[in-house]
Amino acid sequence: MVEREEVEKLNRGYVRNICFTELVKLHVILKCATLNQVVFALNRDLALMTISTVWVEIRSQVLLEYRDFVKCTVPGTIYCSKSRCPYCGALVKIHGVSDHVVNKHPEINPNSIPKSSLPAASQNKLHCLDCPVTKRKRVFTKTALAAHCKALHTTK
Ligand SMILES: [Zn+2]
Ligand SMILES: [Zn+2]
Repeated sequence: MVEREEVEKLNRGYVRNICFTELVKLHVILKCATLNQVVFALNRDLALMTISTVWVEIRSQVLLEYRDFVKCTVPGTIYCSKSRCPYCGALVKIHGVSDHVVNKHPEINPNSIPKSSLPAASQNKLHCLDCPVTKRKRVFTKTALAAHCKALHTTK
């Protein structure tokens, strides 16, 4: 089992290097599901992160997930917890972007907000456009939205 231990050690070292170059915290980046899955799979297959292009492939997703765990850093960095409103440029908390768009830009379909402006956890959530603007902040998964529309917006 020496080889497995060696692989795990090298992959851990690689993640530590990522933290150094991306200016992120190790204990925080280790919470990111995508990174965890990848490291787990690599260790299982005795594959080294150093000689694969995996980090390039998952980088933006991991940094996006990282952003969900940090409070506030420097605006402009990919994992900053604040984001610019794509419509007026206001700096808003990343978790408040969709609320901001619903409140300030009622003419804009909140489901068309670019994913890169939203926290990772909200990227696949949808707003109900049949609800009045005052209730449009609520978000649903695709299935939940279908159920919501069926229950509330079908006229018989
Ligand atoms: Zn705005
Ligand atoms: Zn609705």
